[in-house]
Amino acid sequence: MKQRLFADVDDQAERMDELALDLWEHPELGLHEERSSGRLRETLAEAGFEIERGVGGMPTAFVARYGAGDGPTIGILGEFDALPGLSQAVSTEREPIEAGAPGHGCGHNLFGTAGVGAAIAVARALDRGDVDERRSSGSQTQSDEATGEVRFYGCPAEETLVGKTFMARDGVFDDLDAAVTWHPSDHTAPQRGSSLALDSLSLRFEGESAHAAASPESGRSALDAVQLLNTGVEYMREHVPEEVRVHYNVQEGGSAPNVVPAEASVWYFVRAPTREGVERVTAWLREIADGAATMTRTEVSERYYTGCHRLVSNGVICDTFRENMAELDEIEFDEEERELAAELQETLPEGAIAESRSEFEPPHDDAAADAALYGTPMDAFDEGESGGGSTDVGEVSQLTPTAQFRATTWALGTPAHSWQAVVANGDFGRTALPYVAKLLAGSVFDLLTDEERLAAAHEEFEREVEGYENPLPDGTEPPFELTQ
Ligand SMILES: [Zn+2]
Repeated sequence: MKQRLFADVDDQAERMDELALDLWEHPELGLHEERSSGRLRETLAEAGFEIERGVGGMPTAFVARYGAGDGPTIGILGEFDALPGLSQAVSTEREPIEAGAPGHGCGHNLFGTAGVGAAIAVARALDRGDVDERRSSGSQTQSDEATGEVRFYGCPAEETLVGKTFMARDGVFDDLDAAVTWHPSDHTAPQRGSSLALDSLSLRFEGESAHAAASPESGRSALDAVQLLNTGVEYMREHVPEEVRVHYNVQEGGSAPNVVPAEASVWYFVRAPTREGVERVTAWLREIADGAATMTRTEVSERYYTGCHRLVSNGVICDTFRENMAELDEIEFDEEERELAAELQETLPEGAIAESRSEFEPPHDDAAADAALYGTPMDAFDEGESGGGSTDVGEVSQLTPTAQFRATTWALGTPAHSWQAVVANGDFGRTALPYVAKLLAGSVFDLLTDEERLAAAHEEFEREVEGYENPLPDGTEPPFELTQ
């Protein structure tokens, strides 16, 4: 029965490839992914999905639903935003297609596309009655008419950690029984590790402009306030838990040295392992900002952009991914693709390949030694660990059992958000699409049909997650201004 499901994915291979390339050729920044979101929606609508657009107050966010009955509802999360300044041709050297333009450095052109392919394959299995058939052969407790629902979530603006948080506030994940997703990478394995919770906010100071040399006594510098705030944060840094990450960049800092800057602002990310931890540090940050305003006789205001929780990766779903990996043939890269990957590896920073390999468990650490593209599936190797970054998948993982896997689309050692990743995402990364879509579809199929598996995922979820509270203060609007 799984073979029919996988054959349905193969039927869509060409279409997924065309979609992924089209998104790569038209990269769009977060919350402005009109074309990319539109292409994915149109593909799902043609396959009979019911589309709800504009969820969470974001025109490019959508939910596509297919199915009916009392069976479980399983979601596939997809992303499609690009990164600023990463425009890059398929080349073995840094070569922007258009200087300063965005590019797909995180592989979200593949990310959303594979999820769409998987969702459509599961929809066909629902049509054929395969879901009910497999379910009744496994258990007698379900009714004949159980069926089920598959959903694809079109999640915009992952790079600014915006999309899923605003969608979660809108309640679109509330009635899900589980969610699955994946991410392009230089290896293939379920991801068991966590990520950091985050607050993203801007602090803006307003002072008085004046001639900086002729009448400085009339001026009040907003830039001074930004500098004092940043200095204060550097002193705070010593007295927060080690895992906390705080980083910033100055958004506005005046226009000319002979004008006292009347407006200045700075954008902060605060990260910590828990929401409470983030909130404690953000509260301290706000106090330092007040102090900086007092010292400079300026006024401070805040724009809270977004926040998210840490990722809680569900072990039962990760095991489901691993079982499905065992059912599938490895991703088949051809000679030309391996050669291009090897050439790209030569441009990576020294030590990058060894660093990547050092994370792998034996025998994969050695087996990957001479591989430009290493697609052999591995067990999760990051259980109990947390990366220093954040993902808004964390938000969904607080609402329903959620897990993600990584699949090989990049040359071994390639960092995310690099031009080498852009090259891969426009070229050999696309070769992984059928594999990824099968892995997603097979796992969704298992969760739809295996009652005990889903119950076990829920038991684990209840143990790991406490009550959910959305991080957005009342009335927060999506930060369209961040990516204009
Ligand atoms: Zn990404």
